[in-house]
Amino acid sequence: MDPACALASVSGADLQVPLVQGGTSAYANFDHAASAPALTQVTDRISQLLPYYASVHRGAGYASRISTECYEASRGTVARFLDAADDQAVVFTRNTTDSLNLLAGCVPGETVVLDIEHHANFLPWTARGRRVVEAADTVEETIRRVVAELCSKPAALLAITGASNVTGEVLPLERLADIAHLCGARILVDAAQLAPHRRISLRESGIDYLACSGHKLYAPFGAGVLVGRRDWLDAGEPHLAGGGAVREVGVARVEWASSPQRHEGGSPNVLGAAAIAAACEALAAFDPAELIAHERFLADRLRGGLTAIPGVSLVNIWSDSADSVGIVAFTVADHAPGKVAAYLSAEHAIGVRDGRFCAHPLLARLGLDSALRASVGLGTTSADVDRLIGAVATFVESGT
Ligand code: PLP
Repeated sequence: MDPACALASVSGADLQVPLVQGGTSAYANFDHAASAPALTQVTDRISQLLPYYASVHRGAGYASRISTECYEASRGTVARFLDAADDQAVVFTRNTTDSLNLLAGCVPGETVVLDIEHHANFLPWTARGRRVVEAADTVEETIRRVVAELCSKPAALLAITGASNVTGEVLPLERLADIAHLCGARILVDAAQLAPHRRISLRESGIDYLACSGHKLYAPFGAGVLVGRRDWLDAGEPHLAGGGAVREVGVARVEWASSPQRHEGGSPNVLGAAAIAAACEALAAFDPAELIAHERFLADRLRGGLTAIPGVSLVNIWSDSADSVGIVAFTVADHAPGKVAAYLSAEHAIGVRDGRFCAHPLLARLGLDSALRASVGLGTTSADVDRLIGAVATFVESGT
């Protein structure tokens, strides 16, 4: 990795991260939870591969062979990045939503979910039965409710978020994996928000399935992954029936391929897969502990600064959260979040997000019509954080 990208040794110092940022450097991006700008290592990889643009598999030509090698090597990179076990396949998909819908088609029984989930990890599970657990005000009570639900009658899967896309709060995943397994279920982690912030070892955590999106992982739109145990994936109906997903086809019969090809019908997104792999390599080069320390520094500074402003309240799901990633949700008394977000953009060139964040049940339970969300990423600096705090303070003082 370019030494210029090396992580600053002091956790409070800003990271020197080469990102492809459009627009002006005067723009402060606090919308990483929606999509993160691509790392230059990612765009470099895409540029290297573009001259070999060709369909993968079955092509004897040079370009096709290079593309195929790159596509399959990308699978290996993702598996290593997530420390997948030998019985876990890496399936390339369009995004997290696609990954979760794919798995929902393979689950051999009911799925237990919390009501705090992004819709992508809430809506797909209905086909074979979805059981919704209402989260409590504390993590401990929420886990107790999950245990009670899993014990009440058999479930095939516990589908849970790695980090809330609204508040950034992180649940104890290893503990939940143990609980699911003790109750005879498997666990799926929606890591759309967790994977960009934390190194995850599927092997060590006991997570059976994981879904994430390239565009939140510093790669472009269009590709995601589902990593998980092959037996369910091989028993399920192919996600997309078509060429590439089969071993043999007759007029009246078809023999489907095993995973991952079984679920990758059609010409795959080679560039998307290569981009995700490049992002995984770039992220793996950081010291995970320093990344966490740096992000905590920024998030704590942001939370501290915002709470000091009269009328600003932070939004959290649990009162006893022990961990969170750099996502901060807040409200400004007497002001619609949309109005605050528009002001921050128009007057201060700061990009935050407002709304219900595709988590309507959670927002309803928190008693909010909408909220503001500021999410930090690799390129966020402490000056950006101070600018956001200052801009919110100015908004409140002006009583706009
Ligand atoms: N899960 C979580 C926690 C998310 O934050 C998101 C997107 O914001 C998704 C799933 C869906 O991701 P995608 O739109 O890439 O499918």
